[in-house]
Amino acid sequence: MPKIEEKAWDPKFEYQIARKWEENELYKFTVDARKHAYVIDTPPPYPSGRPWHIGAAAHYSQIDMIARTGRMSGNNVFFPIGIDRNGLPVEIYTEKKYKVRMREMDREKFLNLCRSALDELEKEMIQIMKSLGLSGNFQTYYRTDSNEFRQMTQNTFLALWKQGLIYSANRPNNYCVDCGTTIADAEIGYEERRTRLIHIRFKVKGTSEEIVIASTRPELLCACQCVIVNPNDLRYREVHDKTLILPIFNREIKLIKHQLADPEFGTGAVMVCSYGDKNDVQLFRELGLEEIVAINEKGEMSDCAGPYSNLKIKQARDRIIEDLRKFGFLEKEEFIIHRTPICERSKTPVEIVPMQDYYLKQLDFVPKLRNFAHELNFHPEMHRKILLDWLDAVAIDWPISRRRFYGTEIPIWYCKSCEYPNIPDPGKYYKPWKESPPFDNCKKCHSSHFVGEERTFDTWMDSSITPLFVTKYEDEPIFHSQTYPTRIRPQAKDIVRTWLFYTMLRCYQLTGKLAWSDVWIMGYGVDERGEKMSKSKGNTLDPYPIIAKYGADAFRYWSAAEANLGQDFRCSEQKVAEAQKFLTKLWNVGRFISSFEVIISPPQLTLATDEWILGELGKVISGCLRGYQDLNFFVPASLIREFTWNVFASHYLELIKARAYNSNDNDGYKSALYALHKCFSTILILLSPICPFITEKLWQELYSTKSIHLQSLPSDDNPYQEMCRYSNQIVEFNSMVWNKKKQTVSNETGKLLSLRDSIYIEIPSELQIFKGDLINMHNLKSKL
Ligand SMILES: [Zn+2]
Ligand SMILES: [Zn+2]
Repeated sequence: MPKIEEKAWDPKFEYQIARKWEENELYKFTVDARKHAYVIDTPPPYPSGRPWHIGAAAHYSQIDMIARTGRMSGNNVFFPIGIDRNGLPVEIYTEKKYKVRMREMDREKFLNLCRSALDELEKEMIQIMKSLGLSGNFQTYYRTDSNEFRQMTQNTFLALWKQGLIYSANRPNNYCVDCGTTIADAEIGYEERRTRLIHIRFKVKGTSEEIVIASTRPELLCACQCVIVNPNDLRYREVHDKTLILPIFNREIKLIKHQLADPEFGTGAVMVCSYGDKNDVQLFRELGLEEIVAINEKGEMSDCAGPYSNLKIKQARDRIIEDLRKFGFLEKEEFIIHRTPICERSKTPVEIVPMQDYYLKQLDFVPKLRNFAHELNFHPEMHRKILLDWLDAVAIDWPISRRRFYGTEIPIWYCKSCEYPNIPDPGKYYKPWKESPPFDNCKKCHSSHFVGEERTFDTWMDSSITPLFVTKYEDEPIFHSQTYPTRIRPQAKDIVRTWLFYTMLRCYQLTGKLAWSDVWIMGYGVDERGEKMSKSKGNTLDPYPIIAKYGADAFRYWSAAEANLGQDFRCSEQKVAEAQKFLTKLWNVGRFISSFEVIISPPQLTLATDEWILGELGKVISGCLRGYQDLNFFVPASLIREFTWNVFASHYLELIKARAYNSNDNDGYKSALYALHKCFSTILILLSPICPFITEKLWQELYSTKSIHLQSLPSDDNPYQEMCRYSNQIVEFNSMVWNKKKQTVSNETGKLLSLRDSIYIEIPSELQIFKGDLINMHNLKSKL
């Protein structure tokens, strides 16, 4: 009789199991003075709307596998849980949800709305993370908008300020007119967009000649300070260094030779305006041109745009094209596909607008960070390249100030009489936009009147110190020294140039150390056809009902078995349902095995079949250990399934059934039951980081009252490795016998043989050592 009563694995068991883990504080972390902790720099997920991306749920499942692998490899694992609550997507979500406009309402009220929107989303995310079986530190989960976190963001900013690494500068910078703020290069994406290319006639001064200039930004005509042509472009040889008359505005500008002009684009003659693109910025600097600010921070044309001032960019463009046509300056217009820089958050084309912003120095640190990029262990190795490529592309310091509300405030008060920026002492969370300064007089002129800074930090200023926050940097020196540097940063591929890069930078500037030794980067979750999932395409999947229906283990098993680490992985309910079939098989095998006495101490193995399966098991163990070492869970997930289903259950269990039921055959019986349970208990241990629930339940039913999650991964010495050479022959022989029975008509009954019927088949000489078990399994009769 099977000891396990439940006929099938029910995902509802998961809830009770999780509750027991919680009661027993199974995953509790305490620092151990003798052993540097294995700290996971868990990405705090970002609640920016619902449902949560199914790919993200898969991502967090696997981060939990990292934690469990770490523990079972003998490490003291700290797996913090946090929620990232700062920034723009939250503001946008709040504006939509409550139908308000951030800049049109009281700041304090808006912040409160953001907070309550976040609380709701956060509750859901925590619930999903828990239902996935995450073994993280939920009791003390942190929020990046808490006073403690924001205080650390401000403290570390003040420290860098004192090191002289922060400066303020008015520079043309990427600016999103929809978000109303400066953004960093790292936050820009590119899209191929259809746009109008306008060919405009410019008069050459003092002649009747004209030249034609093509531009996608005719509304910037008012800010045009010269025209360039390539020195090798023979079409313009006659007009080099001549003066042109700007259409509509009637201003004189120079035509200059410059290598940056691409003879292939448009007519080969290019307007240089402040600022159409990065080339313009470079040319203004290089040629010492006087900047004309054409677009203001609201995304409207400024006064210098004359008749077009106060119009939105798009309106101004339409209007000026109309006028160019009306006044005879329009040569032609055509449509082209243009690689357009866009804001990654709002998808708005990025403008380049001069703004006064704070910058954190990063250019000086790139060589050091490049060394770090080579030192880090990347899982998988191929993703190191994303970081190295970005390090090659870093071209300016990091603009860190943002004109937004829901973020950590920049802790500065400006003196009203001399404008000197006064900074407070670290140690408190400051809100200068609504609080008076913690000092009475200006450090420079002793005036006592101040204005508080209204801007906030780029949210990456907060998230780039997660390794410091979770290790209690400057708060608890002993805790910090035993946990920092941390062990591993798991993260998504699309935030290498932001989160990974900025964390390396900031932690190095503050501690002089690399924040982790390992980086683990997963691919994207895509739909069944391999396409990116997005709300606009309508191909997103809510993970929550899927987890509720099939259970966390099925979900986790799917996530591990779907793709090698780093590859994009396909998501569908069907795939999770498929994964559940393996759990059903595992349960059935476990239930069947639970009929047999557990023999733990190894007896003399009397039969070759038992040595063979232990040899095969050893092979699986070493394969799994390699997978776990690389933190590539695809490897153990695939190996365990293949072994359990296609070797252990299909062949071994059939081979030893007769012995397992015959307790009179003392040696053969004990040998079989030992190998049987050795295999199954090892499978459970090997699978437990991936499927923590079903393995826990089977383990406790069969082997111990203690949790399986206190076990270590098995060692990979394999004394029976030699026996694996028989595997193919055993499988082939068994299949051959099964097929033959299916095709043979019985002399006695006239029907096809059943698998239990006897048959005359000679056992090949190489398999003679398995003779007894093969005869019993197939009911073989010898011809004699
Ligand atoms: Zn934007
Ligand atoms: Zn002053």
